[in-house]
Amino acid sequence: MIVLKTSRDLAVMREACRISAGALQVTGKAVEPGISTWELDKIAERYIRSQGAEPNFLNLYGFPACACISINDEVIHGIPSKKRVLKQGDIVSIDLGAKLGGYNGDNAATFACGDISDEAKRLIDTTRESLYEGITAAVVGGKIGDIGSAVQRYCEQRGYSVVREYTGHGVGKALHEDPSVPNYGTAGRGLRLLAGMTLAIEPMINMGGAAIRQLSDGWTVKTKDGSLSAHFEHTVAITNDGPKILTLV
Ligand code: MG
Repeated sequence: MIVLKTSRDLAVMREACRISAGALQVTGKAVEPGISTWELDKIAERYIRSQGAEPNFLNLYGFPACACISINDEVIHGIPSKKRVLKQGDIVSIDLGAKLGGYNGDNAATFACGDISDEAKRLIDTTRESLYEGITAAVVGGKIGDIGSAVQRYCEQRGYSVVREYTGHGVGKALHEDPSVPNYGTAGRGLRLLAGMTLAIEPMINMGGAAIRQLSDGWTVKTKDGSLSAHFEHTVAITNDGPKILTLV
């Protein structure tokens, strides 16, 4: 079921999203060689709680931390660990959110750990840009396929692959609501986009093939071919005045 939000709902949700964005910014700034992903998770948790919000990833479906932190060929759902220490040249995808006033925010970004290769930079830039292509397509009267088509075209034209098994999603009182928002598709197809929809749009883009595999930890998803992967996400409200990114600091 798709829940449309009123402007009053959006005002509350915007606060949860603002805290989510702040947490992502603070945690991303702490990415540097020598820090563990466990420490990054604690930075995220401290920030979220300091704002009076709750880390909404913690214990969701049994996930044991506040942030998913995925390094290099890890696509999503990496579990923070004291044993995972960042190295110069890593690319680090951080996905986290906060809940406040009954509403959720959700956002992600891929950060460079020190100096990274030009090809890694290009993957990160393209993935970020593809998110904005998707957001631009999230307009009243459009279709859900417009979003995925925009993301897919942008990334595939640049030689990258779109992960299929995981998608964006509706977000609101639940972190994961209907509809699912694929990062691939055909423009003009699928569900009609309506004012009041709030969507987490989140391209997961691989440098090599699209295929993925899940590790035996039951969470971490990696590229099958070991190529690098990047991930960017915003929570976006579809309004009569166009798409509004809610996860801004
Ligand atoms: Mg999400």
